[in-house]
Amino acid sequence: MSNAIKTVVVVGGGTAGWITAGRIAAKHQSNSTTNIKVILVESAKVPTINVGEGTWPTMRKTLIALGIRETDFIRECDASFKQGAKFARWVDGSDNDFYYHPLVLPQGFIKGDLSPYWHARQQGKNAGTSFSNAVCFQESICEQGLAPKTIRSGEYRDIANYAYHLDSGKFSKFLQKHCLEKLGITHVVDDVVDVINHDNGDIASVATVKSGKISGDLFVDCTGFASILLGKHYQIPFIECNDVLFIDNALAVQVPYEDENAPIASHTISTAQEAGWIWDIGLHHRRGVGHVYSSNHTSEDEATQRLADYVGPAIKDLSIRKIPIHSGHREKFWHKNCVAVGLSAGFLEPLEASALVLVELSAEFICEQLPQTRQVMNVVAKRFNETFLYRWQKIIDFLKLHYLLSKRTDNKFWSDNRDPQSIPESLQEMMELWRYRSPADFDFTSNNEVFPAASYQYVLYGMGFKSDYTLSPHLLNDWDFANKQFSMTEKMIQQALQQLPSNRELLDKIKQYGFAAL
Ligand SMILES: Cc1cc2nc3c(=O)[nH]c(=O)nc-3n(C[C@H](O)[C@H](O)[C@H](O)COP(=O)(O)OP(=O)(O)OC[C@H]3O[C@@H](n4cnc5c(N)ncnc54)[C@H](O)[C@@H]3O)c2cc1C
Repeated sequence: MSNAIKTVVVVGGGTAGWITAGRIAAKHQSNSTTNIKVILVESAKVPTINVGEGTWPTMRKTLIALGIRETDFIRECDASFKQGAKFARWVDGSDNDFYYHPLVLPQGFIKGDLSPYWHARQQGKNAGTSFSNAVCFQESICEQGLAPKTIRSGEYRDIANYAYHLDSGKFSKFLQKHCLEKLGITHVVDDVVDVINHDNGDIASVATVKSGKISGDLFVDCTGFASILLGKHYQIPFIECNDVLFIDNALAVQVPYEDENAPIASHTISTAQEAGWIWDIGLHHRRGVGHVYSSNHTSEDEATQRLADYVGPAIKDLSIRKIPIHSGHREKFWHKNCVAVGLSAGFLEPLEASALVLVELSAEFICEQLPQTRQVMNVVAKRFNETFLYRWQKIIDFLKLHYLLSKRTDNKFWSDNRDPQSIPESLQEMMELWRYRSPADFDFTSNNEVFPAASYQYVLYGMGFKSDYTLSPHLLNDWDFANKQFSMTEKMIQQALQQLPSNRELLDKIKQYGFAAL
């Protein structure tokens, strides 16, 4: 067995497979024969999951690293701009109950924290201004259906931070074409039917039906829920988290726009239901809508009815796809010479679109820290496992945060979610801290959090939580700074409303003219 890592075999051609293969090939110049060879094997029989349409701003960095033009991506994946999420009916279920988790940080966040001042202003003439609207100009942009930039902004540049909504099926095909034409990846369309080990337990090769054995030094398991290498072959245990997050089913549907000029929301809309919530993602050519629910708290028939009520009469012509959700993750993600990325590593309900961002972060870690030798791989694997175990646990906490402050009483789903037995100790500790101050970056031990302190502030205060600053009046000793930031936010709202085109207008222009290249 050669000690040097020369060949990486990625099994699975969904979004996870192509992003990981592409990032490794781009970084290690696989289009040159002397460099790392990347082989991607995918089955023609097992379809990709074909949902997963909400992303994080990290996707811009991923596309740039892959050498992809934003214009091409938007045109070919029918992508649109996403500027955060609007959570409707999560607090008490009433008609005007909503809050935003925008992608722009609170104004002046790097220099100071506006949360204590926003709390204080709730007593005066500014009472009633939501936290996100007081500290960030993005909620107003979203409420008006505006884009985060103009056609003159250029590729990947922004006026307001943004991610994308994308057509998942088109995205993996687009990535495949790019990876094959530009990045020198070898593509094998075949079914993996067996895994062959070396004596030391490392994977030596995967056996396929028509193409024989495919050998490699590092194997990346991107086989989706099947988790053929890490789960089936290595039997790495799956850690369930359905005692914390109760969602276990999704009903997904693709909804056409009423007409070709219908507005395209520039944020994901997540509307709470009796026993779950409905996502609504506006792409350029259609919407992606789905109801995720807990089967312990409602029936499939009731959930289907909720989805039908949400979508309206158009539902009768649409096909609804049921997807079971198994909440949790593997006990570890890198074992011997095999690392799992994507659904093969685990999955949590898509409330904050955390799956693709984990794929991107995993792919980045692997390509940046690709071990040169088998010995070094053990060190990299240990670090990968520590980093990603922490990330999964933090994401579970962050998703649970959305539920535990709800005052809804329409179904046991909500009271069960508030039951302290269902709340991880790590989150209970944080909630104790935040009774007297707002979430801050030093509450987190990683300097590379998937969801930073600002995200926790948006959700906490959006859900109506109040931190009590009476014991720390010194946190309110710089009103000059705070008032400047509040005024700046108001000014930026006015500027943005004048300057920005609608999301649809910009997307139509990109289809027609494209952005100027970087
Ligand atoms: C209801 C739902 C909603 C979601 N929403 C979001 C969202 O809004 N945002 C987000 O970030 N993520 C979301 N996700 C997650 C997202 O869809 C996935 O993380 C993403 O698509 C990556 O999937 P994958 O590539 O890991 O798996 P898949 O797309 O399932 O790909 C698996 C690949 O493995 C191949 N394969 C399987 N078995 C074999 C075999 N024996 N031999 C060879 N090849 C094989 C298949 O052919 C396929 O190419 C959602 C998921 C679900 C279920």
